[in-house]
Amino acid sequence: MKKISTIITLFLISACSFGQDVNKRINQTDVERIIKTLSADDMQGRATFTPGIEKAAQFIEAEYKKIGLRPMAGNTGFRQNFTMTRVTPIKTMVNINGQMIGADSAFASTSATTLNWTNNADVQVVKLGQGKDFRAEYMGYLKSGKKMLILVDPQFAAAFNRLRDRAKRGSVTANANDNQALVFVLGNHDDLKSFDVSYTGKSEQLPLFNIAGIIPGKTKPDEYVVFSGHYDHLGIIKGNPADTIANGADDDASGTTAVITLAKYYKKLHNNARTLIFVAFTAEEIGEYGSQHFATTVNPDKVVAMFNIEMIGKASKFGENSAFITGFERSDFGTILQKNLEGTAFKFYPDPYPQQNLFYRSDNASLAAVGVPAHTISTDQIDIDKLYHTVKDEFSTLDVSNITATIKAIALSSRTIVSGRDTPKRVAKLEK
Ligand SMILES: [Zn+2]
Repeated sequence: MKKISTIITLFLISACSFGQDVNKRINQTDVERIIKTLSADDMQGRATFTPGIEKAAQFIEAEYKKIGLRPMAGNTGFRQNFTMTRVTPIKTMVNINGQMIGADSAFASTSATTLNWTNNADVQVVKLGQGKDFRAEYMGYLKSGKKMLILVDPQFAAAFNRLRDRAKRGSVTANANDNQALVFVLGNHDDLKSFDVSYTGKSEQLPLFNIAGIIPGKTKPDEYVVFSGHYDHLGIIKGNPADTIANGADDDASGTTAVITLAKYYKKLHNNARTLIFVAFTAEEIGEYGSQHFATTVNPDKVVAMFNIEMIGKASKFGENSAFITGFERSDFGTILQKNLEGTAFKFYPDPYPQQNLFYRSDNASLAAVGVPAHTISTDQIDIDKLYHTVKDEFSTLDVSNITATIKAIALSSRTIVSGRDTPKRVAKLEK
């Protein structure tokens, strides 16, 4: 009896000392300073390729430097540079059955800089009309890798116009593919007999970068644990004319703040067996390009776990002191985290929005696809969050004490993975 009570006492003391450790080393004032800075108006909504995101990047780099992180192998600084191709259309001319189509009723989506089609056999003509789901069809065309002439029924005029306006501003791709081209034409063209397409675009290389720093592992340096969030957001958008800045305070200044705060915490603890990688991703909002690039810079077999943190700014569906984990059932990552939080006030739940397919909609997806137990931790009530992707996602709407509690919970719950005691099961690889 005595022995058992001693063990219980020892256990409580150690659980308590972990708790105290987190409370001492992670403080709300610092969390508030970081998130306020990242979501301030002078960062202009941190859109990829803008001066606003450059400002955010310099702030994150300065934090990493102050903390004492090291660059990843192969990088001289914290920036993990890569480029993307932007093609902006200069001229688009389409003829159907000898009739010139008006400029507002045709556009091309391609990374090629010239197209000259005259009834080409290798161009597939498809009709997007009755009973079709515009978005699903569009995604299918994008994935096909083909040359297509798409005749869009006027019932889809609104969706067509949105895509056309976006295409006019230029389209950005990570892997330029000159063999793919989609030409969209709006109108009733049931009797297509001939077509002519003549298109010219301008191509340029745009530089962008993730910001990554590491704390080398003391005894298992070749096993990596990744903590990530995305530092880009939407930038300036149409909204209330008095406010056009999409500050992205929740999305995802909150996750980036968690990454910086966890880096500081683990650097002070100074006892991580595994190598910890802290990375702020770019270009999530335009297609998760930053995390896709990152996935090519690490050997996925060496990545033991990934904690991607996305939108932890407001209380979750389950109330204060709770968060959810996407893809919970795909590995035992979530149950390890839950076990490490036993006896605390904080709780992790499985993702309550499985129909939203969040597991493959965030920056954990690229590494999860190749087998890494890479999960996203979030508190967002995505089904009813009216501030999501609006100019109202501002610092004033955040619950900073809940953010701090969530970061502390991630610190506490990740400790056995960081120390090498727990190794989550791999997730099933995605078939290509
Ligand atoms: Zn986001």
